[in-house]
Amino acid sequence: DAEVVLVGRSNVGKSTLMREVTGHTFDTGQRPGVTRSPNHYDWTGPDFMITDLPGFGFMKGVPEEVREEIKTDVVRYVEANAEKILVGILVVDGKSVVDIIDRHSGPDEIPHDVEMFHFLREVGVEPVVAVNKMDKVDDEDERLNDLCDRLGLYPPWKQWQETIAPISAKRGDIDALNEAVRHHLHEAKRDDL
Ligand code: GDP
Repeated sequence: DAEVVLVGRSNVGKSTLMREVTGHTFDTGQRPGVTRSPNHYDWTGPDFMITDLPGFGFMKGVPEEVREEIKTDVVRYVEANAEKILVGILVVDGKSVVDIIDRHSGPDEIPHDVEMFHFLREVGVEPVVAVNKMDKVDDEDERLNDLCDRLGLYPPWKQWQETIAPISAKRGDIDALNEAVRHHLHEAKRDDL
């Protein structure tokens, strides 16, 4: 069966999104840094499985080395299963993602989100960036164009609707994500013929 994985820094709204796409309830605000193993669920509607991977990046009260371990686990899981993973949904917080990327860009630093985006591509998993919390963003186009720029995607973002999906998980507004994911599933099926 086709598999879709969900990755992202902690607190971007992964649990909220999981609840929206699966209909299950998840602990939001789960104690951060508690290493969780991959969790598999069915996406409601189309026939594929969605795997929730632990959140990585900064978490209050979680030591650096534990954070690194979590990220390594996520990377290992994706590498080991890359062949059957069709889409990697990278969830980001639309309100803060560009600022965070800019703050962590430097000669010897690659921001987590940028690194993860390129990693997915490198292992042959189609990345879809779910830009969450768009209900809190005023100038949607400007934010999404800036994000494209940071990810090395030539703006305007509207050219990248299979890759950039603005959503508000909390409001249940995830159409753009459903469409982007469905696009890649159809492409994959076509390639099989
Ligand atoms: P996780 O750590 O990535 O699983 O994040 P959670 O799902 O626990 O969400 C973290 C916080 O962001 C919670 O307070 C959520 O209510 C909030 N949140 C999640 N999605 C949205 C959204 O679309 N809009 C807004 N404004 N807040 C959201």
